[in-house]
Amino acid sequence: MALIVKKFGGSSVATPEKIFNIVDRVLREKKEDDKVVIVVSAMGDTTDDLVALAKEVTSKPYGREMDRLLSTGEQVTIALMAMAFNERGHKAMSLTGDQAGITSTDTFNKGRILGVDPNRVFEALDEGNIVVVAGFQGITEYGDMVTLGRGGSDTTAVALAGAMKADVCEIFTDVEGVYSTDPRVAKEAFKLEEVTYGEMLEMARLGAGVMQPRAVEMGFRYGVPIHVRSTFSDNTGTIIREDYTVEANKHVITGVADDTNTAKVALVGVENKP
Ligand code: ASP
Ligand code: MG
Repeated sequence: MALIVKKFGGSSVATPEKIFNIVDRVLREKKEDDKVVIVVSAMGDTTDDLVALAKEVTSKPYGREMDRLLSTGEQVTIALMAMAFNERGHKAMSLTGDQAGITSTDTFNKGRILGVDPNRVFEALDEGNIVVVAGFQGITEYGDMVTLGRGGSDTTAVALAGAMKADVCEIFTDVEGVYSTDPRVAKEAFKLEEVTYGEMLEMARLGAGVMQPRAVEMGFRYGVPIHVRSTFSDNTGTIIREDYTVEANKHVITGVADDTNTAKVALVGVENKP
């Protein structure tokens, strides 16, 4: 038996058809006694669309009400995915971040996870459900919904996997894994079999957009192996863990990442007077 947390991002769940593709794949790969928790993002560009909608109403698209709005996106996905599992004849239950026991600081729009109490998730699993959890959200001690910063579903998935002591956290994405550099920029780029948390963190910070840096940190802290892999193929992707197990992966340089949104400002001729 394995306990597996799988996370699917917005582009993977953009349409009902894509949701069914995921459902069919999960059911095909799931062994009889595996326990599966799925963390999902909002469908397609829903979060961007909600931000745009808010901007039509307010010049201050942030704060508490913004999180009320943004957190609806993921709730649409969990409901539809649970329905799709049921349609295929498998028990499934959707849970909001709150119901999955994710508590957050009250810093709206950039919540930090304070704790995860996955009791209800375990109960639902024990009842034979595949559990579908809304990513990107937690609840404050006052019961307010808080979102965890853009890309925050990765953090939800890894935090949940850590709290549940899952065997692995699989992050499904639209690329085959983590590449030595951006394949759109350099055709020599190759997929890395393994990277360490430290290396992944460096690369994520520098703009390798495949995972939210905070999620990588979380994986490191709780020792959760993270498997970054493609939604569209069955190939093994990249495993992020503490140490390499594959000798061949011990490159001198693991990867190169760039961030074209950074500018450098140099002040010259400034007097040397602190
Ligand atoms: N839906 C949120 C966003 O677009 C969270 C996520 O996708 O991870 O940022
Ligand atoms: Mg993402």
